[in-house]
Amino acid sequence: MNKVAHYLQEHVAGEVMTSNDARGYFSTDNSIFSITPSVIVYPKNESDVRKTARFAWQLAERGRILPLTARGNGTDLTGAAIGHGVILAFPAHLNKVKYFDQKDSKITVEAGINFGKLQQLLMSYYRFIPAAPASFEYSTIGGAVGNNASSMRSLKYGDMRSYVSGLRVVLANGEVIETQRLNKKELNKKLGLATFEGEVYRSLDKLLEENRELVEKSVINITKNAAGYDLKDVKLDDGSFDLTPLFVGSQGTLGLVSEVTLTSQPLKSEPTLITAYFDSSNDLQSAVLDLRSLPDMPSAMELVDSQLLSMVSEINGNYLKDVITPPFPKFVLLVEIDNESEHKKNKEVKKAEKILNKYAQNLHIEDNPERQQLIWKVREASALLSSHNDGNLNPLPLVDDGIVPVDQLAAFINSIYSLFSREHLKVAIWGHAGDANLHVQPYLNIGQVGDRQKAFRMMEEFCKTVRELGGSTTAQYNEGRLRGPYSSKLFTQDVYDLFTKVKNIFDPYDILNPGVKINVSIDEVKPILRHKYSLDHVYDHLPLS
Ligand SMILES: Cc1cc2nc3c(=O)[nH]c(=O)nc-3n(C[C@H](O)[C@H](O)[C@H](O)COP(=O)(O)OP(=O)(O)OC[C@H]3O[C@@H](n4cnc5c(N)ncnc54)[C@H](O)[C@@H]3O)c2cc1C
Repeated sequence: MNKVAHYLQEHVAGEVMTSNDARGYFSTDNSIFSITPSVIVYPKNESDVRKTARFAWQLAERGRILPLTARGNGTDLTGAAIGHGVILAFPAHLNKVKYFDQKDSKITVEAGINFGKLQQLLMSYYRFIPAAPASFEYSTIGGAVGNNASSMRSLKYGDMRSYVSGLRVVLANGEVIETQRLNKKELNKKLGLATFEGEVYRSLDKLLEENRELVEKSVINITKNAAGYDLKDVKLDDGSFDLTPLFVGSQGTLGLVSEVTLTSQPLKSEPTLITAYFDSSNDLQSAVLDLRSLPDMPSAMELVDSQLLSMVSEINGNYLKDVITPPFPKFVLLVEIDNESEHKKNKEVKKAEKILNKYAQNLHIEDNPERQQLIWKVREASALLSSHNDGNLNPLPLVDDGIVPVDQLAAFINSIYSLFSREHLKVAIWGHAGDANLHVQPYLNIGQVGDRQKAFRMMEEFCKTVRELGGSTTAQYNEGRLRGPYSSKLFTQDVYDLFTKVKNIFDPYDILNPGVKINVSIDEVKPILRHKYSLDHVYDHLPLS
């Protein structure tokens, strides 16, 4: 056991591991990268997280950097749940419900709680968190907060940030703070604290006040974005102040979240599902734009293309046979409409039908929940694809989360087809058409030099394309190590410098998940590309993606 592990073992109540097996397991997440950590700590309680952070801070004061990476279940697709130093594995012990009253929409949980377990608990009280990622059955609330996760229903109901009302966070120096929206008086109290927390509030408040215009400029004009830090929601025009939105989506680079307070929603009534077939990306885009302008936004607008359906049919000839048969339409759009009032829902369905009749070749309206479940298999087919290997070729999470303004959806689809065609690769597209957030995974063998080069070349081109279309490289999976090197180009230099200053306020020694999200260089990333990709952390589930 190395010295660091030895010290930690003596001081924390949870387990500390350095075995090759454990370090090997935690050397990968669901990204294409691998880094072997030196130590794994399973914090028993918040105090263990605090002590570990304090220890790393004291080492940093003496010039030695011991990186700390918070980890939920490691389903991260960007290399943000791996790191060189200490992995803090939250799910083992920090997985409890701390406050729940069925009459209250608020629920407080420890960060390592399984999202699926929480959702089940809430559903038994007819409530839920609408932003649950497709991986929710085997990922944690801490991870969803870290990434600002979202779901297909985030189109109408928003991402995780919309449901997190407060946090307990261990700061880089080991201090514990609680966040929630503060009024001016409460903010003044924080500004007067003679602690690191006080320093954070003072520095951040000053920075935001001095850079109001840049804060406005940091917002990309798209419907959801996980790139950069969310500065605009910290200080509002009424003078209120909240660190919560800043921590959400920060991938463990600003603080270690120990507890999360969420606001759950009542379960929705039975929705209606409309399936529409399209011949062209332009018609698809027009339909999506018109549907978005309905008085009540559809709860989901999901897309798959004909290649996805063909590829899935090749993998498993039975999978789609009761739902859709060849020849497949170029695009299938699934539009889900819900409303508390059946009457209002039916009115919305009529309006949506009228829009779709204008652009789509074929239309089917389904109210029966069992039939709907069957139809959703069309979209869930993407899970078969993203977990299927073609010999040594693996579908890679590489250019998988781009988003553009919705009026650029058709251009985005066409540019993805061109990119894959230039690289002589099979392509299939699926995703959240209502947000113009598309998923696509090239089949590559990253054990081969040529494909390793191709991966970075595609990444470079893909980022350029989304930038030119006015979008972001990431809508929901975040930047991590994968997109970190490219995200500076999404923003102007002065906005990016502002993000760097924010990171420095919270983490002056660069202890918290260094090499993730902010100030990541391509030279750091290339050497950690795995030689073989696998989804082995999640093979006992098959989530859609
Ligand atoms: C097949 C598949 C489908 C997916 N579908 C979706 C989807 O629909 N929507 C979506 O948004 N994402 C999706 N993801 C990505 C990922 O699963 C989610 O973002 C998930 O919420 C991550 O949770 P986790 O527990 O695995 O976190 P991890 O992977 O362990 O961590 C994710 C990030 O959060 C940070 N973090 C974790 N815990 C803490 C903490 N306590 N304090 C501070 N930081 C912390 C980590 O450092 C890391 O940066 C998918 C992934 C896969 C493999």
